[in-house]
Amino acid sequence: MSDRPSVSVVIPVYNEKDNLPELLDRSVAACRGLGRPWEIVLVDDGSRDGSTEWLEQAARSRPGEVKAVLLYRNAGQHNAILCGFASAQGDVLGTIDADLQNPPEEIGKVVAAIDEGYDVVGSVRQDRQDALFRKVFSGIVNLMVRRSTGVILHDYGCMLRAYRRRVVDAMLGCRERHTFIPVLANLFAKRVTEVPVAHAERSAGTSKYSVLKLVNLQFDLLTCMTAAPLRLVTYVGVVISALSIGFGALLLALRLVYGPEWAAAGVFTLFAVMFFFIGAQFVALGLMGEYIGRIHAAVRERPRYLIDRVVGEPLGARR
Ligand code: UDP
Ligand code: MG
Repeated sequence: MSDRPSVSVVIPVYNEKDNLPELLDRSVAACRGLGRPWEIVLVDDGSRDGSTEWLEQAARSRPGEVKAVLLYRNAGQHNAILCGFASAQGDVLGTIDADLQNPPEEIGKVVAAIDEGYDVVGSVRQDRQDALFRKVFSGIVNLMVRRSTGVILHDYGCMLRAYRRRVVDAMLGCRERHTFIPVLANLFAKRVTEVPVAHAERSAGTSKYSVLKLVNLQFDLLTCMTAAPLRLVTYVGVVISALSIGFGALLLALRLVYGPEWAAAGVFTLFAVMFFFIGAQFVALGLMGEYIGRIHAAVRERPRYLIDRVVGEPLGARR
């Protein structure tokens, strides 16, 4: 293919050797059905099961269609995808998993939604084929993300997605190490939608997410999205201090009414004083959290804004 690809499909691969032949055949067939120039970018995320060599061979035998980016070590699914984005050339960038849980035949659906004018297209897994605890856990996380970002998508975990080039470039401009692409993308998208897609059981092998890795991923998602937990510390401190002042005032009143015997020689007063200082400590921690939150935001170096267009400037004045 000589044309520059219009659609790039990026697939992160970590020890998925047994899935790769079918994955590539089905993905190529799906891309051919798109009716425009395409490429498939497979990112090997430091596999040790022979996936690397297989991908290398596949890219050599399909030049111009399949590209393999081989990472030296495991960088994690989201970093692998970002790496794939960096070497993909399409105006529309799709992602799917390598384990065939996302049927490659569905790529056309998310790409079509981008054509309709959306910047980011997510997907909702119909009849999701995963363990119950994963589904329940996802439900809670999705609810949390919806509440926190206000972007009403129902399945942030499904990686069968598509993004417009402009959003991907903005994501590539972020310098953070730990990120969660579907949430990060929302930050730069104006029009976001989701489409229903089929979901299958993992074709071969086991999930590449241990419970610990899954928990870490949720922290990546949380910290990528908000600094609210840091602020929560301040609020907790203010509430504890305020309650302790009320408690102290109540003790004083009761002491005046019932006399010194009632007050158990000042033990309760001691509690009130202690609560006040516990609250003050939380406030101090929260204050530090505010600074840490700002440092966190600064080191991520996210673009502050995306210019849509400038009106009233001669063409070509800007590079
Ligand atoms: N993956 C990756 N690096 C990792 C973990 C996973 O590139 O460190 C890839 C994996 O090969 C697959 C996708 O990310 O293509 C999703 O992983 P998996 O199917 O194991 O996750 P699950 O479906 O269990 O959430
Ligand atoms: Mg999977």
